[in-house]
Amino acid sequence: MKLHEYQSKELLSKYGVPVPQGDVTSDPAEARAIAEKLGGKVVVKAQVLMGGRGKAGGVKLFETAADAANFAKDLIGKRLVSNQNPQGMIVDKVLIAETVDIAKEFYVAVLLDRATQKLLVMLSVEGGMEIEEVAEKNPDAIVKLNVDPAWGLCDFELRKAVKDANLPKEAHSQMVSMIKQLVKAYIESDADMIEINPCALTPEGRLIAADAKVSIDDNALFRHKEYAGTTSDSAEHPIEAEAVKRGIAYVNLGGEVGIMGNGAGLVMQSLDEINAAGGKPANFLDVGGGAQAERVKACVELVMMDQNVKGLFINIFGGITRCDEVAKGVLQAFDELDVKIPVVARIEGTAAEEGRKILEGSRVIPAATVQAAAAKIVELAYA
Ligand code: GDP
Ligand code: MN
Repeated sequence: MKLHEYQSKELLSKYGVPVPQGDVTSDPAEARAIAEKLGGKVVVKAQVLMGGRGKAGGVKLFETAADAANFAKDLIGKRLVSNQNPQGMIVDKVLIAETVDIAKEFYVAVLLDRATQKLLVMLSVEGGMEIEEVAEKNPDAIVKLNVDPAWGLCDFELRKAVKDANLPKEAHSQMVSMIKQLVKAYIESDADMIEINPCALTPEGRLIAADAKVSIDDNALFRHKEYAGTTSDSAEHPIEAEAVKRGIAYVNLGGEVGIMGNGAGLVMQSLDEINAAGGKPANFLDVGGGAQAERVKACVELVMMDQNVKGLFINIFGGITRCDEVAKGVLQAFDELDVKIPVVARIEGTAAEEGRKILEGSRVIPAATVQAAAAKIVELAYA
């Protein structure tokens, strides 16, 4: 689960990481009050979970509270689009923070390194831009340090890493402290990623996190109930947010063939077969085991919310799930949604015969095998 910048900064400041003063709001009047309280020289930042907010126009510096409030008012409710997120995201909240005077920008992150089964601290003097770009153009500018979670940080290794990164002298001990705080926060909050970019050095020589991105391991969320109510806010796609609310496992994949199946394995096979047939899956969706008609209907609705979907592929292997329940749910959804796109279904297993009978005469085209179904829906969707 990705946390918003304001949540990330709140979390990190509890561990002693220096962050700018500020507050979050979705109310333009309150935005003005916050900006005034901070003295007017503020940065207004869209709280959306996408990279490159700066370039997308979601981060702006101001000299007066009035100007900041005007911008906040425009920003709230607006859709921000970036290179990484062409679909864009609606801005619900803005963070208003004191402007940091930046003399130099660094990059610092703590990640999970699956290859070594350790944490990975990454540090670079090339902050402010995307780290992928630095990795490509100037890989030597990134210093990496593996941290064994059992041993924790080793002081001399950390000092060497900071020195090797060629940070200005006055930042060394502050960076050593910050990385210790980040690693502690990472472990205790079950994070799988913490990134500070930029980590700013002020003209007075003070190190401060001007931006912060924290992601918490979804499997550990039961230990972090404080985020329980906000999981749907942090979905990266509006339909994914709706899926979280409905308790449905859905991932948007950006293609044109909508997919609904039962069981993650079967759905993944469906994705492969759609790709093999020359199509692009619009989504992953697992209706789950033993789904009743009502749930199936909710799943079909979810897939159909995606305006890119040009065809629907239903792939069901009934075990606990009964195919007649699936068929009923599909038809209920079609009744309400006025579906016009082609639909192909491969239905096997428990009550398959009954299920097929229910679908007879509907717009659902039956297919005997997964491969045949995939070929058919791709042919029809892209016709
Ligand atoms: P991102 O584009 O989503 O990573 O958003 P950031 O919070 O990193 O902001 C983008 C850029 O705006 C940063 O790289 C900085 O150059 C600039 N910026 C953000 N906050 C401040 C600030 O307080 N002071 C100054 N001078 N620049 C800032
Ligand atoms: Mn940033």
